[in-house]
Amino acid sequence: MKVDLAAIGGGFAGMTAAVRAAESGLGAVAIERGEDELYMCNSRVCTGVLHTALANADDPPEIVYERVMSGTGGTARPDLARTFAENGGRVAAWIESHGATLEVVPRRNYGLPSLAPVRRMGAGLDWEGNGPDLFLRGLEARLRAAGGTILRGTEALALVMEDGVCRGVEVRDANGTSTIEAGAVVIADGGFQADRELLARHLTGQPDRIRQRNTETGRGDGLRMAEDAGAALVGLDKFYGHVLSRDVMTDPELWPYPQVDVICASGIVVGADARRFVDEGVGGVYVTNAIARLDDPLAATAIFDSAVWEQAREADLVPPNPLLVEAGGTLHSAGSIGELAIRCGLDTGTLEVTVSEFNAAARAGRTAALTPTRTADRYTPVPIETPPFHAIPLAAGITVTMGGIAVDGAARVLRPDDTPIPGLYAAGSTVGGVEGGPEAAYIGGLIKAFLLGLVAAETAARDIGAAD
Ligand SMILES: Cc1cc2nc3c(=O)[nH]c(=O)nc-3n(C[C@H](O)[C@H](O)[C@H](O)COP(=O)(O)OP(=O)(O)OC[C@H]3O[C@@H](n4cnc5c(N)ncnc54)[C@H](O)[C@@H]3O)c2cc1C
Repeated sequence: MKVDLAAIGGGFAGMTAAVRAAESGLGAVAIERGEDELYMCNSRVCTGVLHTALANADDPPEIVYERVMSGTGGTARPDLARTFAENGGRVAAWIESHGATLEVVPRRNYGLPSLAPVRRMGAGLDWEGNGPDLFLRGLEARLRAAGGTILRGTEALALVMEDGVCRGVEVRDANGTSTIEAGAVVIADGGFQADRELLARHLTGQPDRIRQRNTETGRGDGLRMAEDAGAALVGLDKFYGHVLSRDVMTDPELWPYPQVDVICASGIVVGADARRFVDEGVGGVYVTNAIARLDDPLAATAIFDSAVWEQAREADLVPPNPLLVEAGGTLHSAGSIGELAIRCGLDTGTLEVTVSEFNAAARAGRTAALTPTRTADRYTPVPIETPPFHAIPLAAGITVTMGGIAVDGAARVLRPDDTPIPGLYAAGSTVGGVEGGPEAAYIGGLIKAFLLGLVAAETAARDIGAAD
C-alpha cells in the first residue's frame, strides 16, 4: 500500500490527522491495532471535556500561552505552547463542522464544553453512545467519505527509515507483515501508560500497584519507534490521572469515577507512617503522581472531617459523596482521630500530631510553613475539627502519560539537536513538551489530540507539496 499520510492509531489524534489529510486531497490511512468495530481507545471512552489547562481552548492566544507556560513552570516548549494558543480557537469549530455537538452543562465539567451527549455523572465507566464514542464513529465515516481508509486489526511495528527520512510503516495484520509506504507518518498511538516496563522506568516503582484508569491501549509503541528513529523524548516523569478509592484495585465499578481529588485538596493525605508526604493544595493530578511514587503506592490515605465530606456533594465532576459509598468504596468514620487511626491501621499518636499540626496551620492561615508545605490559594485547607472524622484509603489512577515524543510547533518530530526528522510527525497523548513540569500541569488530552492532529496533517500536506 502507498499513501500520502499514514497515522499510527485510530483515536482522535490519528483520525483527525487522517480526516484532515483526506479532506485536503491526500491519500490517507489510519492504522489501528483494535479489531472491533468499536475498538477500545481512550478517545472512545473519555468524558469529552474540551479545554486547554482546564479553561476554554479558544481564550485569547496570549492568555492560553501564559496559562500553558506558567502551569508547566516554564518547561513547555514555547513554540508548542504558541501553537496551542493560536490554534485553540479553531478546534471547536472543526469538531462541530464534522458533526459533533459541544455542550456546556451547568455545574458540571467545570462549565467547559463537552462532546454531547454528555456522559452520565455516575460511578464506573460508561461510554457507548456518549459524545466521544459517536464522534469517533463520525470521523471514521468522514474519512471513508473523503477517500481515506482505516485498517483495523493492524499493528504498526516499526518505522521505515531511509537515510534519516521516514518513508513508511511496517505493519502486521491477520495476513502477516507488510509495509505501508507513506510520504508522512503521524505517530498517534496514545502514550505509554499501559506499558509496565516504561512505567517502572519513569513514573512508579510499583506499576502493578497503581490503577490503569484508561483502556490500556497506549503501550509505548510510538515512543519506542520514534526513539529508534532518532527522536528526542521529553518530560516522561509526569502523568495525568486522578486519586481513586483503593478498592478500585479489585472493583471495576470504581474507575474512572468517582475520583476523590477534591477531598484530598481540602483535607490531608498521609502515608503508611501517618505523616503527610505531599502538598495536597496543588491539586489532584499532582497528588496522584506523588502517590504513584511512594515505595508502596497503595499506602496513602485521605483524612478529613464531615465539613469536607459534605462539600464533596457539590464536586464538579462525579461527586464522591454519596457515589463513592454507594458504589462500594470504603469510607472509615470515627468520633475521634485516634479511633480513625485504628480503623485505618495507622499509628494513633502520629496521626493525632499530624492532624493537630495541620489544623493549627490551617486556622492561622500558615500552611505554607508546614512540611511538606501546603498551597492554599487554589483549594482552601479545611481544619479537621468537625466530627465524625473520615478516611478513604487511596490509589493512584493513571489516565495518560504527559511526556513523550518531542515535536516542534508544527508537530514535526525532533531529534535531540532540535532538527526535524523528515516525514515524521506526532499528535495526541504520545507527544511530550506541553504538559507536566514541577506541578504536573495537565493541558488536556483532547486538545492535544484534535489540535495536534490538525496541525500534523497540515504540516505534512505542506511538506509533501514542497517535496513534489
Ligand atoms: C476515562 C477517561 C476520561 C477522559 N476524559 C477526558 C476529558 O474529559 N477531556 C480531555 O481532554 N481528555 C480526557 N481524557 C484523555 C483523552 O481521552 C486522551 O488523552 C485522548 O483521547 C488521546 O487521544 P489519542 O488519539 O492520542 O490516543 P487514543 O485515543 O488512546 O488512541 C490511540 C490509538 O492507537 C492505537 N494503537 C496503539 N499502538 C498501536 C500500534 N502499535 N499500532 C496500531 N495502533 C496502535 C490504540 O489501539 C488506540 O486506538 C480521558 C481519558 C480517559 C481514559
